[in-house]
Amino acid sequence: MTTSTLPRVERLLHSGPGGPTDPGLAGHVALHGSLAVPARHDPAWSEALLAEVAAAGLTGRGGGGFPAAAKWEALRRGGRRPVVVVNAMEGEPASAKDRALLAWSPHLVLDGAELVAALSGARSVVVCVADDRDASARAVRMAAAERSAAGTVREVTVQQPPARYVTGEESALVNWLSSGDARPVLRVDKSVPLRLGRRPVLVHNAETFAQVALIARHGATWFRGAGTGDAPGSTLVTVSGAVCTPGVVEVGLGTPVDEVVRRCGPTGPVSGYLVGGYGGAWLAPEQASTPLAPAPLARAGATLGVGIIVALPADSCGIAETARITRWMAGESAGQCGPCVYGLPAIADDLELLAGGRADPGAVGRIDERARSIVARGACRHPDGVARMVRSALAVFASDAAAHAAGRPCAGRHAPSVLAFPTSPALVGEAS
Ligand code: SF4
Repeated sequence: MTTSTLPRVERLLHSGPGGPTDPGLAGHVALHGSLAVPARHDPAWSEALLAEVAAAGLTGRGGGGFPAAAKWEALRRGGRRPVVVVNAMEGEPASAKDRALLAWSPHLVLDGAELVAALSGARSVVVCVADDRDASARAVRMAAAERSAAGTVREVTVQQPPARYVTGEESALVNWLSSGDARPVLRVDKSVPLRLGRRPVLVHNAETFAQVALIARHGATWFRGAGTGDAPGSTLVTVSGAVCTPGVVEVGLGTPVDEVVRRCGPTGPVSGYLVGGYGGAWLAPEQASTPLAPAPLARAGATLGVGIIVALPADSCGIAETARITRWMAGESAGQCGPCVYGLPAIADDLELLAGGRADPGAVGRIDERARSIVARGACRHPDGVARMVRSALAVFASDAAAHAAGRPCAGRHAPSVLAFPTSPALVGEAS
């Protein structure tokens, strides 16, 4: 096993002397220090926090990568008191960071939510946890009860939308909170805030709130002590596949992909890295030194997504794994736009035939063409992510795809999948 040369970064998942468990409110304060949050709107305090987060260069950790401070500015222009929503849905099956954060540091997430609520004038915080994540929901409820007993003035409620991939999409989440329908909504202008009734809604990923809590305590300069100039701070990454210790690690943004994998103890040769999740992209072994940060990943045709790396063992089949992801993602769509209703199932059909060595000679070209044609044609970006992942697979596993297309599929197609595929509940139900 190779030893990691990566310096440890322990900010969000700093577990303290008691080990990696939620230390409770008193333990949390002992670990991170106390936090002063004004009970009422305080313009000077709000401006100072906004300026500090802007100087830190914090971007959303939920996949969009939008500057957090700019999102708050847009909201403040709306005038009305907003509702703050913590998105801990974690619909990406290969991600475990929200679960880890809520299990180890629920108070850090709630600190951040309370700070953002105070800054924006919100009186309540809604934490959304998928309905198959009862342990996470319990951890938040217990933490919220502790804070309430300690005198916190802002109400925290936990909601549990259906555990589907698309439910974590911002407009789907707000749609569910409003109507019980967890399907995404077409947004022509994304700078216009989503609304719950007449109130604008501010949604951030759970990790983003936790980062705000750290910036409020330690400042922008400290935050920039990790990461790079263009991509400051640390981030949580879920690593799985060909590693001895799969799980969530915290690294500085810009850490090379192979360094992150080394932290988890590689088990052997790898034929590719799925980066960013099921709507991310495959990287070839030669691209393993790509820094895990938005710009370098974009140049490599990939995306940071919610911070996922799956190292594919060399004896697995990248084409078969891609077919499995595509079929699952086709089933996870909201079923309301052409690219998802027709495009994704057709691509999955061809990929499955290709994986089994039963595809016709035109299959590879057809898969590529279909993947190109569905981009930017849905109400949300669900099909775009799958298209990127599929096209990257055809590039990274090009020689495998050619052999499969020629009727010589590899033995790896029979290997057990290294990926997780949960079952899917209905998207439309009652909001709790
Ligand atoms: S693009 Fe797909 S997932 Fe997104 S709203 Fe349309 S059908 Fe649903």
